[in-house]
Amino acid sequence: MIKGTKFYSIFKGKCPRCQNGDFYDGLFFKGSPLKECPHCKLKYEKEPGFFQGSYYVTYALGVATIVSVWVAMYVLFPNATFDHYLWGVLGTLVVLTPFIYPLSKIIWANFFTSYDSEYNKD
Ligand SMILES: [Zn+2]
Repeated sequence: MIKGTKFYSIFKGKCPRCQNGDFYDGLFFKGSPLKECPHCKLKYEKEPGFFQGSYYVTYALGVATIVSVWVAMYVLFPNATFDHYLWGVLGTLVVLTPFIYPLSKIIWANFFTSYDSEYNKD
């Protein structure tokens, strides 16, 4: 993955500005971002309630998951009933929700902060 891209920050769980400091404390999918970047001191929560906007991203990722699972089941299991689709989608959402929610927060933070190579120095 190429450093300097938003994909690097999102999938490596790094600060959107310097891409050196961690965005999450400990495990990537713990759920709560740090208060600031340990490397460049960027405040992750720009204002009170900043991460509430990430619910839009959570919604979009959830819909994308539902459509993907529905299409995959339609292709792989042509004889499946509506109940099978429903349980397949619900099961997938239950399993992926702990990953989608923190992922949406770092995507949201990347909407508002761009990579700056000036902060990427040790
Ligand atoms: Zn940083």
